[in-house]
Amino acid sequence: MTYSIEELLSRSYDEWRAAADKLAFETRPYIDGAFRDATSGDSFPSVSPRDGRVLTEVQAGSAEDVDRAVRCARAAFEDGRWRDLAPKERKRILLRWAELIEANAEELALLDTLEMGKPITESLRVDVAKAAETIRWYAETVDKTYDEIAPTPGDALALITREPLGVVGAVVPWNYALLIASWKLGPALATGNSVVLKPAEQTSLAALRLAALATEAGLPDGVLNVVPGRGEAAGQALGRHPDVDKIAFTGSAEVARLFQVYAGESNGKQVAVEAGGKSPQLVLADADIEAAASAVAWGIFYNAGQTCNAGSRVVVHTSVKDELLAAVRRITVGTFRVGDPLDPATVMGPIVDRAQLAKVLGYIERGRQDGATVLLGGEQVLAETGGSYVEPTVLDGVVNTSVVGQEEIFGPVLAVVSYDGDVDEGVRLANQSDFGLVASVWTRDVTVAHRTARRLRAGTVWINTFDASDVITPFGGFKATGAGRDKSLHALDAYTALKTTWIALA
Ligand code: NAD
Repeated sequence: MTYSIEELLSRSYDEWRAAADKLAFETRPYIDGAFRDATSGDSFPSVSPRDGRVLTEVQAGSAEDVDRAVRCARAAFEDGRWRDLAPKERKRILLRWAELIEANAEELALLDTLEMGKPITESLRVDVAKAAETIRWYAETVDKTYDEIAPTPGDALALITREPLGVVGAVVPWNYALLIASWKLGPALATGNSVVLKPAEQTSLAALRLAALATEAGLPDGVLNVVPGRGEAAGQALGRHPDVDKIAFTGSAEVARLFQVYAGESNGKQVAVEAGGKSPQLVLADADIEAAASAVAWGIFYNAGQTCNAGSRVVVHTSVKDELLAAVRRITVGTFRVGDPLDPATVMGPIVDRAQLAKVLGYIERGRQDGATVLLGGEQVLAETGGSYVEPTVLDGVVNTSVVGQEEIFGPVLAVVSYDGDVDEGVRLANQSDFGLVASVWTRDVTVAHRTARRLRAGTVWINTFDASDVITPFGGFKATGAGRDKSLHALDAYTALKTTWIALA
């Protein structure tokens, strides 16, 4: 029995709990079109942050498993079973895969919600729905992208064609596990590459199902392989593998740099990295405060702040700070109900695991020590459930250069920095960060908005909105946030190399 996302969105809490109880878990690596036991005999627990219970033991892929997956991916690439299929056929298979993702929305959403604690409605609306949309969008590019002919003199013809790179290693985080995987898989597969995907330890299960659905859709064996495992083992093995042509990574800035080292110390493979942020929402004195406050609250508390482009810093003019923070408090208290992610009424679920919970609480304490005031929240809640829940938290009076003003907390903690001077001072503070993923500016003056947007150093700048996005626009950052962009047609360039073919016509 399959249910549409619309039908699933009207389910009750009891129905979701019953569905969760019936779920079975497949935890073996998916290699060459089938689930196969990991060679290591090693495993790690998948612990649900909703109640601290162990869901299952996931087989931990070793360097040997990664090597096996890479060899299968290479064989699939070399014999052309995927890249040499007619474009219409590749499109058909990818479209079918998107359909199957939607048809299996119940299971995929449940797996993600149980493993990482995202509210079930968001797993459906965002992760599953947008992952299917992303795969579908890239499927449509397969028979709609053309190559080029260079303006040679008449005695020659020069073709500029795009060719797939070969074997792509995709290494992804847990916070939008399916969606971020689809940002890599969509363009990598659409352009004819083979892929080995290494999901984060916290979210292996939906990724494994995704690969089985690809086979069901008709993707030839070996083209998409998934090896769950520990970062230092399976992740590193992929990063150092001599026969991987590219690593497409999303995760923390520290691990991003490790992948650059792995590449340099192995075969010099390409590395695209998308790492974190400390993204500012710059609220000028003439802003629409009610609209800005709503965007500030949603920008940091959505997904419990575990979003790479969370608006974790607000840089606000002192003349409107009190009004803004009063509205942020009202909206947060009225909207962000913390609770069991299987309850459709929950707006904010738990923090992904105990280690991350401890890190978030540690940052709140550090903020206090450094002189910030806890204006809202600040405490762990629902401890009796065994889950790792924390209140939406607002830290006021943050010094921009302090730890909580600079470091990515990756939890529901807003750092409020205020400024007194002109727009230049606001821009200076907004840009005073090692990261550069996204930023916003709030003002009613269209000229100031445009000028400010130009000066903000971020891969995406929003004017009078926050987190508006779609697969049609690129996503990625400046500075330590990384190199490379996911999404949009530009991502096709990331998984292809240009080839020149020069033909003499004389
Ligand atoms: P992480 O860097 O710890 O892990 C990301 C991936 O790298 C996981 O698959 C992990 O297993 C693997 N890994 C960990 N250590 C490794 C090692 N030593 N060698 C090889 N691989 C290793 O990040 P996370 O905790 O999963 O995710 C949170 C981070 O991701 C945050 O910093 C967040 O900002 C960032 N993020 C960025 C974006 C973006 O698009 N810029 C999107 C989502 C998340």
